[in-house]
Amino acid sequence: MPSILKPFDPWKNPLCTCPLKMSLNPYTGCPHGCLYCYATSYIPRFSICRPKADLLRRLGRERWEPGCLVSLSNSSDPYPPMEKDLKLTRGCLEILREKCIRVQVVTKSDIVCRDADILGQMPSVVSITLTTLDEGLSRRLEPGAPLPKRRLFAMEALRSKGVPVTVRVDPIIPFINAQEISELVDAACSAGALHVTTSTYKARPDSLRRIYLEFPDQARTLKSLFSQGKRMGGSLYLPSEVRRIAMEAVAGACRKAGVTFSACREGMQDMLGAIPCDGSHLAVILQREPV
Ligand code: SF4
Repeated sequence: MPSILKPFDPWKNPLCTCPLKMSLNPYTGCPHGCLYCYATSYIPRFSICRPKADLLRRLGRERWEPGCLVSLSNSSDPYPPMEKDLKLTRGCLEILREKCIRVQVVTKSDIVCRDADILGQMPSVVSITLTTLDEGLSRRLEPGAPLPKRRLFAMEALRSKGVPVTVRVDPIIPFINAQEISELVDAACSAGALHVTTSTYKARPDSLRRIYLEFPDQARTLKSLFSQGKRMGGSLYLPSEVRRIAMEAVAGACRKAGVTFSACREGMQDMLGAIPCDGSHLAVILQREPV
């Protein structure tokens, strides 16, 4: 039986600055239906969420390197609605806690709060993705995902139980959510986020088609911007000046809020400090005081 863990390697993108980590996806596919999702371009029937077969037994048999970091998940949300009953992600966390493995959880779902009891007892960090504070926009962009207020609530709830939280402001899309970035960073930091990871929209052809269909008024301007960008690792990048302006806006909001900042696959190392881009430096403290 092949390993259930895969080395995290986003298409060998030369701009990826993530630390060495293993990727664990308890589910294949995701019901959140984000228009900008890139996983739809390489996973068939992506909107149908399927639990991984024999997951917990396979994970229990893995061999671990000391200090290993597991990221859960990178190709699908580890907390789809069916996780409430199946408790597969919870089962994975129990195994990882037992082995003292460092864990980074990336999700848009407040179901993660259920597992604060386990996360608080292991070196963990939870990264909640937030792309807008506007409920109407969220419904259009991420129709199946929990609304922004539930994600903010999740940040507060996790912090109150001693679990470190970061926010993933990703993707930033010009003319769609780029104008509210400062407010968004403020809201996330007020809810307890300790670090901000951000990224501009790296478009795949199918996700770009969905964006153009849903936002016809912005399509022409976006098309023009992307025609001036470049292709990298199978994705279309916005022009570097546009990306830099977006990154500077987030960096400025983070300075104001007094939290650390990093950018994902932007190639703007001059703007970044020594902090790992994914915020996984926070997954180290075993005994933490709740706020
Ligand atoms: S939550 Fe993540 S994996 Fe799921 S549809 Fe949205 S972007 Fe894709």
